[in-house]
Amino acid sequence: MTSTRQLREDGSYDVVIIGSGAGGATMAQSLAGTGKSVLIIERGERLPQEEDNWDPRAVFIDRKYLTDEVWLDRNGKKFNPKIHYWVGGNTSFYGAALMRMRKRDFEEVPHEGGISPAWPISYDDLAPYYTKAEHVWKVHGSRKNPESADHTDDLDAPEYAYPPVAHDPDVAVLKKRLTESGWRPFDLPLGVDRDDKQPWKGRCVRCDTCGGFPCRVRGKSDARHIINQVEDDENITLVTGMKVKKLETSADGKSVKSVVCESSEGEHHFKGDIVVLAAGAINSAALLLGSTAHTHENGLANGSDQVGRNYMFHTSSAVLSFTRSKVDAIFPKTFAVNDFYWDDPDGGFDYPMGHIQLLEHMNGDVIQGQLQEKIPEWLVPDMLANIIANRLMAFLVISEDLPEQRNRVRLNKDGKITLEYWHNNLVGHERLVKKLEAKLGKLGRLYKCYRQHRIQLDELLPLYGTAHQCGTLKMGHDPKSSVVDVNCKAHDLDNLYMVDSGVFVTSAAVNPTLTIVANAMRVGEHIKSRF
Ligand SMILES: Cc1cc2nc3c(=O)[nH]c(=O)nc-3n(C[C@H](O)[C@H](O)[C@H](O)COP(=O)(O)OP(=O)(O)OC[C@H]3O[C@@H](n4cnc5c(N)ncnc54)[C@H](O)[C@@H]3O)c2cc1C
Repeated sequence: MTSTRQLREDGSYDVVIIGSGAGGATMAQSLAGTGKSVLIIERGERLPQEEDNWDPRAVFIDRKYLTDEVWLDRNGKKFNPKIHYWVGGNTSFYGAALMRMRKRDFEEVPHEGGISPAWPISYDDLAPYYTKAEHVWKVHGSRKNPESADHTDDLDAPEYAYPPVAHDPDVAVLKKRLTESGWRPFDLPLGVDRDDKQPWKGRCVRCDTCGGFPCRVRGKSDARHIINQVEDDENITLVTGMKVKKLETSADGKSVKSVVCESSEGEHHFKGDIVVLAAGAINSAALLLGSTAHTHENGLANGSDQVGRNYMFHTSSAVLSFTRSKVDAIFPKTFAVNDFYWDDPDGGFDYPMGHIQLLEHMNGDVIQGQLQEKIPEWLVPDMLANIIANRLMAFLVISEDLPEQRNRVRLNKDGKITLEYWHNNLVGHERLVKKLEAKLGKLGRLYKCYRQHRIQLDELLPLYGTAHQCGTLKMGHDPKSSVVDVNCKAHDLDNLYMVDSGVFVTSAAVNPTLTIVANAMRVGEHIKSRF
């Protein structure tokens, strides 16, 4: 356990924040400068900046930075979640694609597999915070190009403050070919410290160890940067290596009175006039479900029986496209396609299909690490893995999974996290994967300079891939059917807020972090108005 400042003897703070990831760090940033005392409680430690940060073997095969926790699936089968407990949370390992959700994502949208319900807030409520978040997280992108305009549907959104990250040679060729064929690829908005015209100015070195790796040179905009900034505020204290075990309440169960934690030094109790939960959608739900008392036997903030339900994590497939010669791209994740977001413009399907973005370069160890749950390492020797790695372009196809009551986080009788999940809404996703495969196949035949072969591999992301977890603490007007209100305050309590992706009503089909950050900024404004 470490703390940036002496912990108060009586353990009392104006605000206690649980978790230092995208939501928690942003909340601390919103409260910085207010003069209020803030304690951030983080179960992980500070991530060392070391050689292993960029070592694919350490990261993907030895799982050096992943938790060794064991969770259970709906059949009681054990699995190791791909989750990271460190200061900065999962953002230290993310791919830095910072996308706004689209206007219609906040409205009710019929999908082939059911209805994607409306949020109680609109895109316009978040728009100013999206703009602020894009500044703070140094998002590089372009809204000038016509094909880029509709990646948010918001024609009033200001241009990004930072230019788009340049495409590597083969990525530029592929983008051009796709555009010529009628698709409208756009520059993927990325939170990196990089100016390709003056590369010496930023920290990002466009390496091949970005998404999935912690950035050794701190060139990604992750929550660690935000935490570093707020630590300068003398009223903000970060304590690490301190896991919150339970939230205890007043006798009537209406306010959180004590945040019960454990560290290597034993049990600790903290108090906050306001408590903000930002432990990630799964852990926040688990913490509430485990915080039972006679006033709330079913878990805290759970009068609606919705805590832990509606778990979503995106229906995702990796589509791998192989080339005959080496791909000339070290940092390929620089464009995306939204043409099929709402329907199939070629006709025949009037429902949303999803979003396509290029994935990071994968080297041999990354491939072996990704495959190791299925194929033993010796079956894919290093040399073969590297030959494959240098000849592939990887795409991530993301589609919306719909909130369902039965898809939920639970605690089993030993307190272990159980993730019960049934895939849904798959028809649009499979159609999109096939569209991409067919397009890549055609490009391979038609365009010599990008020699695509139509050998693709796709599979749905398994349950252990919790990267885009959300939905377990649903935001809504009705206390009977949601966990938090529009200000993200628990309906059942007067001083408990939640600002991680648990409050998402739907998963949309884009990466979640920018929305988590924008929403936490919005809730921060509300909390400040309470002081
Ligand atoms: C490999 C990977 C790639 C990704 N790529 C992208 C991307 O390109 N774009 C994008 O938008 N998103 C991406 N994501 C997702 C993104 O990282 C998450 O959406 C985001 O970090 C979630 O923020 P959060 O605040 O909800 O939770 P987290 O960032 O997970 O933060 C939760 C924090 O709470 C702490 N905590 C948990 N339980 C407790 C407890 N009991 N007591 C105290 N502390 C606790 C954790 O240690 C953690 O620090 C990616 C994720 C991964 C893993």
